[in-house]
Amino acid sequence: MSANTIRKAKKLVEGGGVAKIEDDLFQIKSSSDPEKSYFVTSNTCECPGFKNFYKFHHGKGLKANCSHLEAIRIFKQEDQA
Ligand SMILES: [Zn+2]
Repeated sequence: MSANTIRKAKKLVEGGGVAKIEDDLFQIKSSSDPEKSYFVTSNTCECPGFKNFYKFHHGKGLKANCSHLEAIRIFKQEDQA
């Protein structure tokens, strides 16, 4: 995963862009459009980056990632701390 993705994810968490809805459902603000937000679980995301990943890498056995999924990971770690 790129350092840029992690940096973006950290910014989302630190900026309060992550809201927990349910145990495995989060609402995360879009970093490009503050008016927009995505519903994200621990392994799926609604954002175009996530959807495009599977479009471009379909069938290669890779797991898609995006800054939102990474933000949840960071958010959960901080939650436990
Ligand atoms: Zn995403």
